Amino acid sequence: MPTGTKTINRHPLPVSSMGNERSLTVVQYGPRDKGKKVYIQAGLHADEAPGFLVMHHLLDMLDQADAANSIDGQIMVVPVANPIGVGQWRDEALQGRFDFFNNINFNRRHLDLTAKIEDRIKGELSDAPDENVVLIRRAAGDVLSSMAPIDEAEYLKHLLLHLSFDADIVLDLHCDDQAVLHVYLGTPLWPEAADLSAQLGAEVTLLAEDSGVTPFDEACSRIWWQLARKFPDHPIPPACLSATVELRGRADTSHELAALDAENIFYFLQRRGWIRGEAPTLPPLRNNASPLRGVEHIRAPVPGVVVFLRKPGDRIAKGKTIAEIVNPAADGVENRITTVRSSITGILFSINTDRYARPGRILAKIAGKTAIKTKGENLLTS
Ligand SMILES: [Zn+2]
Repeated sequence: MPTGTKTINRHPLPVSSMGNERSLTVVQYGPRDKGKKVYIQAGLHADEAPGFLVMHHLLDMLDQADAANSIDGQIMVVPVANPIGVGQWRDEALQGRFDFFNNINFNRRHLDLTAKIEDRIKGELSDAPDENVVLIRRAAGDVLSSMAPIDEAEYLKHLLLHLSFDADIVLDLHCDDQAVLHVYLGTPLWPEAADLSAQLGAEVTLLAEDSGVTPFDEACSRIWWQLARKFPDHPIPPACLSATVELRGRADTSHELAALDAENIFYFLQRRGWIRGEAPTLPPLRNNASPLRGVEHIRAPVPGVVVFLRKPGDRIAKGKTIAEIVNPAADGVENRITTVRSSITGILFSINTDRYARPGRILAKIAGKTAIKTKGENLLTS
């Protein structure tokens, strides 16, 4: 039975296959009338398990805080954000990253509301940032209410944005292959959001104004700086701190790590004023943020078996070997091994869990301090 302020709602998704109806579960805590809202979801990429486990621990902590009447702002939690993806079993493995119907990544091509909001707020903005935030949120809500996607995945994307567009903080929990904890954020949100990266113990924070493919976190936050640029005579703050949190690698599913991550999210919310009580001292930021355009995706030049010589979290100097690709069918021992090197200096933050190389396939990601990609490029993976 729900206690305190907690509510649980189920939103049905449109039925796209006869007899197969799915729904999205939304858990909420705290007062809804204080004008402050946090939105947290996990598993938009349904094959990324650590986020679900963090939700398990976080819900437990929020239940306790709610029972103690300590929640002081709206906290909306969507513990399983992709009911379509979590049903995508094939060949004894859960897929969950791409819609089987059209192969579109569930965390790409989210709605871009900027142009439609712009039409609605022309001539309405004032010199008061708070009033402009209210105006823009009302316009965004109107735009979303005017849309009615019929495709199940598009409906889900619309629903997730409709639940989160008016939040001050949005956390989208994901994980990488084999990785250290890292965070994606909009450039205008830094350094104000440094307490998030510091509290989570993120080794890497990657900043972009526009990654080129509109992941969920950008659909929530990017409208603010895009509108600020379109209306330079009016103050429009970056009113949504929206982040994609990569909870290490897909096999990192211990209760210890998940409880630690949930605790860190709880402390972050406590420090930001959503939960009463004093958070512990903020740990120091492990590494300053770096540009998403500075990430090198190291690709395999040849086929073979990958042997990594460095691990996630290692600092790599330009030109250093990070892996070898071994092909026993190559002619002669000197041709059997191909070394793979970094072309930049930076932090190796993710490596592929699949140890088979194929020319062009991404083997590793290194975060450097200097942009190496041009504006407009897709800065993320497919
Ligand atoms: Zn993901």
